[in-house]
Amino acid sequence: KKRDPYEPEFHQAVEEVFESLEPVAKMHPEWVEAGVFQRIVEPERQIFFRVPWIDDNGKVQVNRGMRVQFNSAIGPYKGGLRFHPSVYPGIIKFLGFEQIFKNSLTGLPMGGGKGGSDFDPKGKSDREVMRFCQSFMLELSRHIGADTDVPAGDIGVGKREIGYMFGMYKKIKNEFTGVLTGKGLNYGGSLVRTQATGYGVCYFMEEALNNIKNKSFNDSIVVVSGSGNVAIYAAEKASQLGGKVVAMSDSKGYIYDSQGINLETMKKIKEVGRKRINEYLKYHPEAVYTEGSSNIWSVKCDIALPCATQNELDENAAKTLIENGCFAVGEGANMPCTPEAVHLFIKKNLVFAPGKASNAGGVATSGLEMSQNSMRYSWTFEEVDSKLKEIMKDIFKNTHETAKKYGFENNLVAGANIAGFVKVASAMYDQGIAY
Ligand code: NDP
Repeated sequence: KKRDPYEPEFHQAVEEVFESLEPVAKMHPEWVEAGVFQRIVEPERQIFFRVPWIDDNGKVQVNRGMRVQFNSAIGPYKGGLRFHPSVYPGIIKFLGFEQIFKNSLTGLPMGGGKGGSDFDPKGKSDREVMRFCQSFMLELSRHIGADTDVPAGDIGVGKREIGYMFGMYKKIKNEFTGVLTGKGLNYGGSLVRTQATGYGVCYFMEEALNNIKNKSFNDSIVVVSGSGNVAIYAAEKASQLGGKVVAMSDSKGYIYDSQGINLETMKKIKEVGRKRINEYLKYHPEAVYTEGSSNIWSVKCDIALPCATQNELDENAAKTLIENGCFAVGEGANMPCTPEAVHLFIKKNLVFAPGKASNAGGVATSGLEMSQNSMRYSWTFEEVDSKLKEIMKDIFKNTHETAKKYGFENNLVAGANIAGFVKVASAMYDQGIAY
C-alpha cells in the first residue's frame, strides 16, 4: 500500500487472496523464507506506452496503453486486454494478479498478465477502432509473442479488436503464430472461445450446486448482470440447463422480462447492433426497463450471476438477494462482489463461486486455442466443449477439496486462492530467486 497508494482495486485483490493463505504459510515456512509472498505481489514487468491515433475528423488523439506481465512461473504470461475509460494501473494490476491464480487453476501451463488502454471503443467508427488497435499493437508487439506473452480480449475487446491487432502483429513480425487468442475462426480461432467464459461459469455452478446443496439450474430463476460476452453466454447455458433468466443489464440500466429474456433479441442488440439494452423493449414491449444497473439485484431470484464488472454487487445488494431467497452466486466477471458482500454470502452459507475459479473457462479455452495453433489443427465444437466441461469440473473438485483440506469446508474462495497459489508458489520456489 505504501508503494502504490492509489491502487485500491489491486489492494483489494491482494488482501482477498492473502486472507486465505495463513495456513499455507504455516505449512511452508521455506516459501516464507524464500520471499515467495513478497515476490508474488510485485509484477515481473510493467510496460506503459503512448498510443497516438487519428480520428475520423483528422484530429490526433492520444491514449495510454499498458501491459502488466505479472508472473511467468508456470508458463508464458496470459490474460486479456481491456479497453475502457476507467483503465489505469490499479485495475490492470488487480486483474493481472487474479489471473495468476485463475490460470494456475485451469491446470494448463499459463502465467498471469493483463493489459489494456483508457481508450473507449463506444461510439467510435470501425475505422477509428482499427487505427487505434494498429497503433496499440505497433508498440505492444515488441513485448509479446506466442512463447512469451499471449493477450486475449476483455471488456471492450472482442473479435473485431483482436482481428485488427492480429493483422498488425503479423505485418510487423512477418510470422503467423498464436500470439493472441479469441481470434476469428477463419484465422486460427478456436470453436467455443466466444461462449467459453459464460458456459464455464454455468458448468462450474452446476457442479457446485449438485455437490454442495443437492440443487441445480433446473427450474431456477436466474439473474445475470451485464449483456456482454460473458453475460450473454452465461445466460444461454443457464437456460439450456433448465433455468429461467429473467433480468440482464448494461452500464445504464436493466431489463426484467418475466417470460424469460429472449437471448436472440439480446444478441441482435448487443453483438450485432452494439446498442443500449433498453432497445429490448422495441421487440418485447411487455418487458420492463429500469434505469440504474445496480438495481438489478433487487430482482427476486434463486441464482445470481454477476457478469459485468468489478465491485458491481455490494453488501446492500447482497442483503437484498439473500432476503429474496437467493441461494447461489457465481461470479462471471472479475471481482464483481465487494469483500463485504462475499463475507456475507459465505456467512449465510450460499453457494458462492469466486471468479478466479468460476470464470476460468475463458482462459482455459484460450489455452486450448494456443494448443490448436501450435499443432496447426482445429478441434470440433463438441471436442472443445467437452474439454471445457471437464476442466470446469476439475477446477470445482480441486477448489472444493483444497478448501476441505485446509479447514475451510465449503468456502470456495479460500479453496480457489490456496489451490491456485500452491502450484505457482512451488514453481517459484523450485526456480530459485531469479534476478
Ligand atoms: P464486454 O465488454 O463484452 O461486456 C461488458 C458488460 O458489462 C457490458 O454489458 C457493459 O455494459 C457492462 N459494464 C461495463 N462496465 C460497467 C460498469 N462500470 N457498470 C455496469 N456495467 C458495466 O466484457 P466481457 O463480457 O468480456 O467482460 C465482463 C467481465 O467478465 C469483466 O469483469 C471481465 O474481466 C470478465 N471476464 C471476461 C472474460 C472473457 O472471456 N471475456 C474471461 C474472464 C473474465 P455497456 O454495454 O453499457 O458498456
